[in-house]
Amino acid sequence: MLNPKSLNDSDLLSQTHDLVTKEKQITLDILHYLREIRLRKLYLARGYSSLFDFCTKELGYSEGAAHRRISCMYLLVQLPEVEEKIKENKGNLSTLSQLSSHIRREEKHNNSKIPKEEKLQLLAQIENKSQELCQRELLKHSSQGNMSMDRQRPITEDLTEIKFVATKELMNKLNQLKALLAHKNPNPQWGEFLEILADIGLKKLDPRLRETKQPPKSKAANVAKAAVNQPTPDSTAAAAKRRVNPNSKYISQEVKKYIWNRDQGRCQFIDSETKKKCESQFALEIDHIQPFSLGGQTTVKNLRLLCRAHNSFVAKEAFG
Ligand SMILES: [Zn+2]
Repeated sequence: MLNPKSLNDSDLLSQTHDLVTKEKQITLDILHYLREIRLRKLYLARGYSSLFDFCTKELGYSEGAAHRRISCMYLLVQLPEVEEKIKENKGNLSTLSQLSSHIRREEKHNNSKIPKEEKLQLLAQIENKSQELCQRELLKHSSQGNMSMDRQRPITEDLTEIKFVATKELMNKLNQLKALLAHKNPNPQWGEFLEILADIGLKKLDPRLRETKQPPKSKAANVAKAAVNQPTPDSTAAAAKRRVNPNSKYISQEVKKYIWNRDQGRCQFIDSETKKKCESQFALEIDHIQPFSLGGQTTVKNLRLLCRAHNSFVAKEAFG
């Protein structure tokens, strides 16, 4: 690269233009490459639970930069015309990703696909617009109930501001819950109220926090006998093993709790090449390492936690 200080004004400007043209081409190339990585599900093989995770943790993009690139990649798949807009300087990653998110929200909200012609009209309407004007334009085309722009913003290391728009139905449900919880806290702040709901939700949904039934007395006696015959240093593991029937696919609450604790509530998929472990906490499921239908037993040794993405990935590898 030439030292910019050595260039005259005219060359400095024209070379800056050249570099920006190259930058746009590289951006487009990256979108096409990300699309191919997604199609091959390479991020899963490399131990990431999502393309977003891969972009931030493997490629080093910030969360915003990763989101913009992935959103634009999806838009490019739906509307190949986006490529020309980027080349002709009529759209940038920020406004195009806003359009992509708008289309996704609208289609989800209305449970129907937006026709391509309509998408192209939207693309033309946001041409050359700033982020704010683009947002205003898209709001004009938003269905009622899809006007919210969810925001979360860290304020300090320990505090995060969350902003969202609640529908009438959601407010009714929240007020009902407030009334039901009034004996606990008659007039909670929103943060306190959500924390109470979070505790209730976690107790119900996180197998590590769920209460498990005690074994009936007669079984408990047998268990004590078994424990004497076969001592083990880990009582939780022992309790889980007792509740396992290796030849049934059924997994008891006690065993689920043990697996969740042992695997620390994280996906255990490991990329055999790089040895990177996924560790995602998103949509976890219990997986038979050796598939049950291929003779794998329901034992704590053959069970592990996988995120949903990796569970379907390994199933596809095993069964095609
Ligand atoms: Zn995973």
